Parts: sequence; C-alpha cells; structure tokens
Amino acid sequence: MSLLIDGKAYAAEVEGELTKRVEVIREKSGKAPVLATIIVGDNPASVTYVRMKGNACARIGMASLKVEMGKNTTTDELLAKINELNNNPEVCGILLQHPVPEQIDERACFDAISLEKDVDGVNSAGFGLMSMGFPAYVSATPLAILSLLLHYGIEIEGREVVVIGRSAILGKPVAALMLNQNATVTIAHSRTTNLPQVVRRADIVIAAVGKPSFVKADWIKKGAVLIDAGYNKGNKGDIDMENCAAKSSAYTPVPGGVGPVTIAMLMKQTVSAAEKLFGIQ
Ligand code: NAP
Repeated sequence: MSLLIDGKAYAAEVEGELTKRVEVIREKSGKAPVLATIIVGDNPASVTYVRMKGNACARIGMASLKVEMGKNTTTDELLAKINELNNNPEVCGILLQHPVPEQIDERACFDAISLEKDVDGVNSAGFGLMSMGFPAYVSATPLAILSLLLHYGIEIEGREVVVIGRSAILGKPVAALMLNQNATVTIAHSRTTNLPQVVRRADIVIAAVGKPSFVKADWIKKGAVLIDAGYNKGNKGDIDMENCAAKSSAYTPVPGGVGPVTIAMLMKQTVSAAEKLFGIQ
C-alpha cells in the first residue's frame, strides 16, 4: 500500500500554529504583520497565485499589501518599488511573483529584496547561505518538500535522491536542502542522458520539470517516495501518478500535495520575519 502524503491537511495544521503566533505578534506590537506581494503585468496564473497568497494571509490574521505594476514596467521602476518596500517598517515580507515580463531583469530584482524580508527565499545571497547550512529564508516550494518529508517521518539521510529540474527557485535549492540532510543527491536536467536509468536509482524522486505526466512508471524503483512539485494545466503534475503511485511507498498528489504547503511555508517565513522585526521571539 502506498501512503498518500496529504499536503492539504499538513498545510492546515501549519496554518493553525501560525494563527496563534500571529495573535501573539498582534497583541505585543499592536499591528498585523504585512506581506507585500508584487505582481507585474496580468499573467492569469500569477493573478491566481497572488490571490491565493493574500487569502492565506487573511486566514492566519496577517495583512497583505498588493502592489500591481503594469506589464511595461522597467527594471529600474521595479527596483525602486522593492527599495521602497525594503524601507517600509510596516512591511515584514516581500514576495515578487515569478515570472515577470521579459524586459525586466528578474534576478536583479530578486537580489534587491533585503534578506530580512526575503520570505519567499529568492535572493541569491540567501540561497548561498542556505546551501552552506547557515540560517536564511528558503525558497518556499523546496522548503515545503523538505517539511513534508520530515513531517511524514520519511528518512532522507543516506538515501539516493534524484531531483529532476535545476531551476533557481526549485531544483537547485531542493537539491541543496536534501544534501544538507545527508542524502546522496543527483540533479537531472534537459541535457541528462538516459534519464529513466538515472531515476531508477532513486529512493526519493523529486520532479520539478514543468511537463505534465513526464515521469513514467517504468522509471520508478519499487518502494520509492515520489514528490511531485509540478503544476501544469488541467491540474496535472510532472509525474504520471496514475501509473506510478502503485510502485511507490509514498507519493504527493496534484493538487493537494506540495502546492498548499508551499503557501504555508511562505506564511511561516513571513511570520518568522515579523517576529524578528518586532523583536518577538
Ligand atoms: P523551470 O524553471 O522551467 O525549470 C524546469 C527544469 O526542468 C529545468 O531545469 C529543465 O532543464 C528541466 N527539464 C526540462 N525538460 C526536461 C527534460 N526533458 N528532461 C529533464 N529535465 C528537463 O520550472 P520551475 O519553475 O522549476 O517549475 C517546475 C515545475 O514546478 C512546474 O510544473 C511549476 O509549475 C512547478 N512549480 C510548482 C510550485 C508549487 O508551489 N507547487 C512552485 C513553483 C513551481 P534545463 O535547466 O536543462 O533547461
């Protein structure tokens, strides 16, 4: 029998704990912590994600400040806005919704978010610190994956983890987190040769490819743990879970797996940032 890793239930548990922490912040500081969300342009998926994050803030008693910028915004304009939010004492966390329109230097903007407010863990200096095992806010989806594995008591140390995908916000940081947990980590990508054979080694497969049902059942070692970070049109993950789940010992569904926990981790890091900013520990 394969265990369904229930991200929705775990996210609700995390939100319950965060609601209590936000209550304490509000009592002691007299203020609701604010997460600033910046959206540039009107990409419908981004609009939905930002709305979901605003709703999550409301559920745990936090405030959100929605900053909407036009699709022709320049890098300098966005940098100026980030700088303003960095210096706004009411704002505890800043989220810049990815992707931004192509004329914008997204990396420069991510790196302009101050480390104290980078609750979505996109700053490359924060990534460096995290990779070295020092405290830093972590990219939310990788943190969600680690938290789910730990919550479900899934052993990581000494196990073969294959991460498929090497993006700056997902594949690379999740690989670093797994390495810091003493896993033996392989990062596969579009130039990897014989991917099915690489994936067959894995005790834990983490799929972060962005292609629906990409990972096939005959790539999966019996008893492997399957973590599907993918989210594609039609509520499809990156793993063909319909056919893969039966071979696994545990798996995350799409939807209801990694996604809800990603938002919960963003909230958790924002609450931590607020506690630090208001001097509440
Ligand atoms: P991305 O930036 O497009 O990166 C995709 C990665 O997959 C790249 O490293 C790419 O390799 C690799 N890849 C592409 N085709 C491949 C192939 N045929 N074989 C092996 N590797 C291949 O995507 P991302 O932002 O990391 O997102 C990945 C998925 O996670 C998407 O479905 C996205 O919607 C989802 N996601 C979910 C959440 C959540 O909250 N659950 C958050 C963020 C993203 P190269 O580097 O060689 O091009």
